[in-house]
Amino acid sequence: MSSTTYRICTLPGDGIGPEIIAEAKKVLAALGEKYDVQFVCKDQLIGGAAIDATEAAGGPVSALPDATLDAARAADAVLLAAVGGPKWTDTRVGAVRPEQGLLAIRKELGLYLNLRPVRMFDALIDASTLKREVLTGVDLVIVRELTGGLYFGGHERMMGVEGAGVGGTRGEYARDILEYSEYEVDRVVRWAFDAARRRRGVVHSVDKANVLDTSRMWREVAHNVAAEYPDVTLEDMYVDNAAMQLVANPRQFDVLVTENTFGDILSDEASMLTGSLGMLASASLGDGTALYEPSHGSAPDIAGQGIANPIAQVLSVELMLRYSFGMDAAADELAAAVTRVLDEGWRTVDIADESTPADKVLGTAAMGDKIV
Ligand code: ATP
Ligand code: MG
Repeated sequence: MSSTTYRICTLPGDGIGPEIIAEAKKVLAALGEKYDVQFVCKDQLIGGAAIDATEAAGGPVSALPDATLDAARAADAVLLAAVGGPKWTDTRVGAVRPEQGLLAIRKELGLYLNLRPVRMFDALIDASTLKREVLTGVDLVIVRELTGGLYFGGHERMMGVEGAGVGGTRGEYARDILEYSEYEVDRVVRWAFDAARRRRGVVHSVDKANVLDTSRMWREVAHNVAAEYPDVTLEDMYVDNAAMQLVANPRQFDVLVTENTFGDILSDEASMLTGSLGMLASASLGDGTALYEPSHGSAPDIAGQGIANPIAQVLSVELMLRYSFGMDAAADELAAAVTRVLDEGWRTVDIADESTPADKVLGTAAMGDKIV
């Protein structure tokens, strides 16, 4: 008898979504058996798939039906594949778009931080544009604040407001407000410290404290939190320097924590360190159910061909095990399995190159089987 049951709301979505999420389920089933845990996965509709289904049912058309949201809220974790595709590009005002489903579920679940691990798999190192010396052993996590900062501080455009703007008031004027409360900064920084404690014990707090008041407050909050974590080292770093250090010496980083916009930019930069989009997972966390997904999109150009790389989706399961279920041993084992499969030379098309023998190139399901 299994002692623990975890309910996972699975959202296959569109494009390659159903193909890659099937492999994640295989991996979950295998780990469940081994660790005596029951993972109960139940599919729900999101994105284009939800638009089509709600339309066929006579509306209201929605990219995130209530049933999906209710199931997500009630689950122990949400595993999402990807949404969107050329079928749903209606740009008319009021048209429902697949991506709205994703934005809505993130908002409804109150997910206030996004984390993206960037880990170098040695077997893929030569495919990267950076040097082996720089990349060997890279294993970092970017923690991005997700619901505040510059993206959510209010945006405004006006015509020539008297006295507004630095360079005069002729023509149009626009502004975007960067604001944070101490509370918002504290919860994301605290999460980063907890994560660092379970990793290598180093937090880089990335800001622009030489210019911005929000950053000066961010820095103070980070230092206050650090006082409660004597076992974790805190380093302050300006965001411009962090952008440079990420490509010059990425190995120095363990956990980076930063403002929404800074994190958006830095996490895209960092994702290119390791090369392939098909290898990167991400998690969005809040106080309730967390959401795990690959960093890539629905790849409509290869959908239905059985050739998509399922590894990013599988690594999103690794994050789920770690951050929602506290199953670090299972997560480590899954990461080791992926590493081993790559070390043995197995590839999907997107991570294969001229040196890959044809019989080492696997389809989506075969790659999932290898990992299992
Ligand atoms: P989105 O707009 O949803 O973020 P995108 O349009 O930026 O997505 P993707 O859908 O991620 O991009 O696809 C970009 C390219 O990467 C495509 O050529 C796609 O086939 C490829 N790709 C993405 N994910 C995978 C994967 N898991 N396996 C193989 N190739 C992939
Ligand atoms: Mg796209």
